[in-house]
Amino acid sequence: MGRLMTPLKPCPFCLTEGAKLIELWNSFDAGHIAHIHCEHCGADGPSVYGESGAAPTIARARSMWNGRAVRYEPPNVGVQPLL
Ligand SMILES: [Zn+2]
Repeated sequence: MGRLMTPLKPCPFCLTEGAKLIELWNSFDAGHIAHIHCEHCGADGPSVYGESGAAPTIARARSMWNGRAVRYEPPNVGVQPLL
């Protein structure tokens, strides 16, 4: 809400950018977990956990997504998702 958000770099797997890169977050334990998800290929950025509220946790997830030195979970190419 009016915060200055770090722009997300394109997906490292399919180069998707913009609105198809979404923030997924939830309450977890005493805080929140968050990661960035690519809706195009299904790749997930690194999950982060924080206890200072959802917004700072999401902000860290965004910078983790942009940090190219970290491990990504690759998309499950050719594998049907379990629904
Ligand atoms: Zn992707």
